[in-house]
Amino acid sequence: MTNNIGELTELLRQHNLRRTVARVAILRHLVAMPGPQTAAEIENAVAEHGFDQSTVYRTLESFNEAGLVIQRELGDRLLRFELVDARNTAVQPYYLCVGCGRVLRLSQCATDGIVPAGFQIEQITIRGRCPDCAEVLK
Ligand SMILES: [Zn+2]
Repeated sequence: MTNNIGELTELLRQHNLRRTVARVAILRHLVAMPGPQTAAEIENAVAEHGFDQSTVYRTLESFNEAGLVIQRELGDRLLRFELVDARNTAVQPYYLCVGCGRVLRLSQCATDGIVPAGFQIEQITIRGRCPDCAEVLK
């Protein structure tokens, strides 16, 4: 995806969302991230704009209601937000670092053939430690 202002605006428009400074800043951040983000991480990332916490939460809520983002709970009781990718309806596997909470999207081929035919998968999260957190343990 893009962080071009015109394309971000178009993405908002496709979801019937008016362009605001907060929406553009938060959308730009979500587009750039390799995996879902907590509200706190998003708030932190756009802190330079000086939005208050309720603005960030309201913006995420409007994205969620518009179907622009999906909320995910990956087993550590934190809600994370991720852009909905309309082209992709398969289960998205994730890697979750139990040390710092960093989340990465994994390749979908990781899920091929791991459950018997006819069984559906709702969620796959692989938990472990990222290189930074593994280093701390040494
Ligand atoms: Zn980590």
